[in-house]
Amino acid sequence: MALPALHADGLRYAYRGVPAVYDVSLGIEEGEIVALLGANGAGKSTTVNMLAGVLRPDAGRIVWKGEDIAGLAAHRVMERGIALVPEGRLIFPQMTVLENLQVAGTSRRAADGFARTLDEVLAVFPRLRERADQAAGSLSGGEQQMLAIARGLVGRPALMVLDEPSLGLAPMLVRAVFDLVRDLNARGMTVLLVEQNLRQSLKVAARGYVLEKGRVALAGTGPALLDDPYVRQAFLGL
Ligand code: ATP
Repeated sequence: MALPALHADGLRYAYRGVPAVYDVSLGIEEGEIVALLGANGAGKSTTVNMLAGVLRPDAGRIVWKGEDIAGLAAHRVMERGIALVPEGRLIFPQMTVLENLQVAGTSRRAADGFARTLDEVLAVFPRLRERADQAAGSLSGGEQQMLAIARGLVGRPALMVLDEPSLGLAPMLVRAVFDLVRDLNARGMTVLLVEQNLRQSLKVAARGYVLEKGRVALAGTGPALLDDPYVRQAFLGL
C-alpha cells in the first residue's frame, strides 16, 4: 500500500491551557480530496493550522513525504509544498490583485519561474486577470476567495489546505469554489478541504473526517458518512 503523502498522528493543542484539539489523526494520499468536517469550534482550524506550521502541536506527529514537519515554521512548511488558504481569506485589501499575488510569490519555492506560474494561475481565474490592477478590497466576496486560493497556488504547492472556502459566499459562488477544487484536483493537486458544509464537500471529496470537540468522531467515504445516523442527525437535520 502506498504511504500517505501526509500523515498526522495524535495531534494535540491547547490555547493557554484550554484544550482545543485532544487527539486528531488523519492521512491524505497523493491526488486525493479529503474533507475535514465538523461544527463550529470542533477544532478544524486548529488542526490545519498545526499542519501548516502556524501553530506548534503540543503533542503528535505530522509526517509529510517521509519527513516529520511538526513544529516547523509556516514558511518552511510552505517551502515543502503545503499551502494553507486560511479562513477569512486574509488578503491585503489596499494592495492590488496583482500585488497580492506578487507578495505571495516571494517565497523561494514560488520565486522560481514566478512569471510563468502567475500566468498559469491567472489563466485559472480570468476574473482576477481582468481585475489585476484593482484594489483587492474592492473585489466581491467570491472574487476575494478566488484571490486567496490564487495566492496559495502561486507557491506551487503539492497539497492545498482550504479552510472553509465557502464561508459567507452565496450559493452560486459556493458551487464555483467547489468546482474549482475539483478542477485543481483533476490537474494533480492534493486537497484537504475544511468545511462545515458537509453535503456539498462530500460531493467533491471522496472521503472525510468528522471532528467533534477536538477529536475524530468519525471517518469514512462520502456515502458512508452521509448515511451515518449520527451525521444525519447532527449535520443534516434528518
Ligand atoms: P470554526 O468553524 O468556528 O473555525 P473550528 O472547527 O475551526 O471552528 P477551531 O477554530 O479550531 O474550530 O476552535 C476550536 C476551539 O478552540 C474552540 O473552542 C475555539 O473557541 C478555541 N479557539 C480557537 N482559536 C482560539 C484562540 N486564538 N484562542 C483561544 N481559543 C481559541
